Amino acid sequence: MTQRSTLEVIAELMTANGWTVSHQQDGGEARVEGVHSSGAAAMATARMKDKGRELRFYAIGSDSRGWTRMKRAGLEDFLETKKINASMPHWRVSSSKCTCGKKSAPTQEQALRMLEEARSRHIRKGSTRVEARVYRCNDDARRWHLTAWASWAGRETWQEATPAR
Ligand SMILES: [Zn+2]
Repeated sequence: MTQRSTLEVIAELMTANGWTVSHQQDGGEARVEGVHSSGAAAMATARMKDKGRELRFYAIGSDSRGWTRMKRAGLEDFLETKKINASMPHWRVSSSKCTCGKKSAPTQEQALRMLEEARSRHIRKGSTRVEARVYRCNDDARRWHLTAWASWAGRETWQEATPAR
Protein backbone atom coordinates (compact mmCIF):
# COMPACT_ATOMS: atom_id res chain seq x y z
CA MET A 1 0.00 0.00 0.00
CA THR A 2 1.47 3.37 -0.93
CA GLN A 3 1.41 6.21 1.58
CA ARG A 4 -0.68 8.32 -0.73
CA SER A 5 -3.43 5.74 -0.52
CA THR A 6 -3.25 5.87 3.29
CA LEU A 7 -4.91 9.29 3.18
CA GLU A 8 -7.53 7.91 0.80
CA VAL A 9 -8.23 4.98 3.11
CA ILE A 10 -8.58 7.35 6.09
CA ALA A 11 -10.94 9.56 4.05
CA GLU A 12 -13.09 6.53 3.15
CA LEU A 13 -13.19 5.45 6.80
CA MET A 14 -14.26 8.97 7.78
CA THR A 15 -17.10 8.94 5.25
CA ALA A 16 -18.20 5.47 6.33
CA ASN A 17 -18.41 6.62 9.96
CA GLY A 18 -20.40 9.80 9.32
CA TRP A 19 -17.59 12.36 9.20
CA THR A 20 -17.62 15.32 6.82
CA VAL A 21 -14.38 15.06 4.86
CA SER A 22 -12.23 17.72 3.23
CA HIS A 23 -9.00 17.29 1.27
CA GLN A 24 -6.39 20.02 1.55
CA GLN A 25 -3.08 20.62 -0.18
CA ASP A 26 -0.75 23.08 1.52
CA GLY A 27 2.67 23.43 -0.06
CA GLY A 28 4.42 20.12 0.52
CA GLU A 29 1.71 18.80 2.83
CA ALA A 30 -1.38 16.83 1.84
CA ARG A 31 -4.13 16.69 4.42
CA VAL A 32 -7.41 14.94 4.94
CA GLU A 33 -9.63 16.43 7.61
CA GLY A 34 -12.79 15.06 9.12
CA VAL A 35 -15.35 16.99 11.13
CA HIS A 36 -18.10 15.23 13.07
CA SER A 37 -21.46 16.67 14.15
CA SER A 38 -20.48 15.90 17.78
CA GLY A 39 -17.75 18.57 17.52
CA ALA A 40 -14.94 16.03 17.23
CA ALA A 41 -12.33 16.48 14.50
CA ALA A 42 -9.66 14.25 12.97
CA MET A 43 -6.76 14.83 10.61
CA ALA A 44 -4.17 12.83 8.70
CA THR A 45 -1.23 14.57 7.04
CA ALA A 46 1.44 13.46 4.56
CA ARG A 47 4.53 15.62 4.15
CA MET A 48 7.33 15.07 1.66
CA LYS A 49 10.65 14.37 3.36
CA ASP A 50 14.03 13.29 1.98
CA LYS A 51 13.21 9.66 2.74
CA GLY A 52 9.67 9.76 1.42
CA ARG A 53 6.37 10.83 2.87
CA GLU A 54 5.94 11.33 6.58
CA LEU A 55 2.46 10.48 7.81
CA ARG A 56 0.89 11.91 10.94
CA PHE A 57 -2.46 11.34 12.60
CA TYR A 58 -4.32 13.71 14.90
CA ALA A 59 -7.65 13.75 16.73
CA ILE A 60 -9.62 15.99 19.04
CA GLY A 61 -12.69 14.93 20.99
CA SER A 62 -15.80 17.09 21.16
CA ASP A 63 -15.06 18.12 24.76
CA SER A 64 -11.27 18.50 24.39
CA ARG A 65 -9.37 21.79 24.33
CA GLY A 66 -6.41 20.47 22.34
CA TRP A 67 -5.26 18.00 19.70
CA THR A 68 -3.78 14.58 20.37
CA ARG A 69 -1.33 12.87 18.04
CA MET A 70 -1.62 9.12 17.63
CA LYS A 71 -0.70 6.23 15.39
CA ARG A 72 -2.79 5.21 12.43
CA ALA A 73 -4.53 2.42 14.35
CA GLY A 74 -5.42 4.90 17.09
CA LEU A 75 -6.97 7.29 14.58
CA GLU A 76 -8.93 4.47 12.92
CA ASP A 77 -10.32 3.54 16.34
CA PHE A 78 -11.16 7.22 17.00
CA LEU A 79 -13.00 7.55 13.69
CA GLU A 80 -15.36 4.78 14.80
CA THR A 81 -15.79 5.67 18.49
CA LYS A 82 -15.21 9.49 18.37
CA LYS A 83 -13.25 8.98 21.60
CA ILE A 84 -9.49 8.72 22.15
CA ASN A 85 -8.63 5.19 23.19
CA ALA A 86 -6.49 5.59 26.33
CA SER A 87 -4.97 2.13 25.92
CA MET A 88 -3.47 2.99 22.52
CA PRO A 89 -0.33 5.16 22.08
CA HIS A 90 -1.18 8.87 22.00
CA TRP A 91 0.56 12.17 22.70
CA ARG A 92 -0.96 15.53 23.52
CA VAL A 93 0.14 18.16 20.99
CA SER A 94 1.72 20.94 23.04
CA SER A 95 3.89 22.78 20.50
CA SER A 96 2.77 24.86 17.54
CA LYS A 97 4.37 26.65 14.59
CA CYS A 98 1.83 29.45 15.05
CA THR A 99 3.53 32.79 15.64
CA CYS A 100 0.41 34.97 15.24
CA GLY A 101 0.24 35.84 18.93
CA LYS A 102 -3.55 35.81 18.61
CA LYS A 103 -6.26 34.06 20.53
CA SER A 104 -6.89 30.66 18.97
CA ALA A 105 -9.11 27.61 19.08
CA PRO A 106 -8.13 24.11 17.94
CA THR A 107 -11.07 23.59 15.56
CA GLN A 108 -13.31 25.72 13.37
CA GLU A 109 -16.32 24.77 15.47
CA GLN A 110 -14.65 25.84 18.73
CA ALA A 111 -13.48 29.07 17.07
CA LEU A 112 -17.04 29.81 15.91
CA ARG A 113 -18.31 29.17 19.44
CA MET A 114 -15.67 31.59 20.77
CA LEU A 115 -16.80 34.11 18.16
CA GLU A 116 -20.45 33.77 19.19
CA GLU A 117 -19.51 34.38 22.83
CA ALA A 118 -17.49 37.49 21.89
CA ARG A 119 -20.35 38.68 19.68
CA SER A 120 -23.00 38.34 22.38
CA ARG A 121 -20.75 40.18 24.86
CA HIS A 122 -20.35 42.91 22.23
CA ILE A 123 -24.09 43.15 21.54
CA ARG A 124 -24.81 43.43 25.26
CA LYS A 125 -22.56 46.51 25.26
CA GLY A 126 -24.91 48.16 22.76
CA SER A 127 -23.00 47.85 19.50
CA THR A 128 -25.12 47.95 16.37
CA ARG A 129 -23.11 45.66 14.14
CA VAL A 130 -20.21 43.27 14.50
CA GLU A 131 -18.13 42.12 11.55
CA ALA A 132 -16.13 39.06 12.40
CA ARG A 133 -15.09 35.66 11.22
CA VAL A 134 -12.69 32.82 11.92
CA TYR A 135 -9.83 31.57 9.76
CA ARG A 136 -7.30 28.76 9.81
CA CYS A 137 -3.81 29.73 10.97
CA ASN A 138 -1.30 30.03 8.11
CA ASP A 139 1.39 28.27 10.16
CA ASP A 140 -0.57 25.55 11.93
CA ALA A 141 -3.51 23.68 10.38
CA ARG A 142 -4.68 22.67 13.87
CA ARG A 143 -5.33 26.25 14.96
CA TRP A 144 -8.12 28.70 14.14
CA HIS A 145 -8.02 32.42 14.85
CA LEU A 146 -10.66 35.10 15.21
CA THR A 147 -10.37 38.43 13.46
CA ALA A 148 -8.67 40.87 15.81
CA TRP A 149 -10.54 42.84 18.39
CA ALA A 150 -9.38 46.43 18.75
CA SER A 151 -10.42 49.21 21.01
CA TRP A 152 -9.92 52.90 20.25
CA ALA A 153 -11.15 55.74 22.40
CA GLY A 154 -13.93 53.64 23.86
CA ARG A 155 -15.08 52.49 20.42
CA GLU A 156 -14.61 48.83 19.67
CA THR A 157 -14.43 47.38 16.17
CA TRP A 158 -13.46 44.14 14.55
CA GLN A 159 -10.44 44.54 12.28
CA GLU A 160 -9.80 42.68 9.10
CA ALA A 161 -7.15 40.04 9.60
CA THR A 162 -5.15 37.86 7.20
CA PRO A 163 -7.25 36.22 4.48
CA ALA A 164 -8.78 32.83 5.13
CA ARG A 165 -7.42 29.89 3.18
ZN1 LIG B 1 -1.51 31.40 14.07
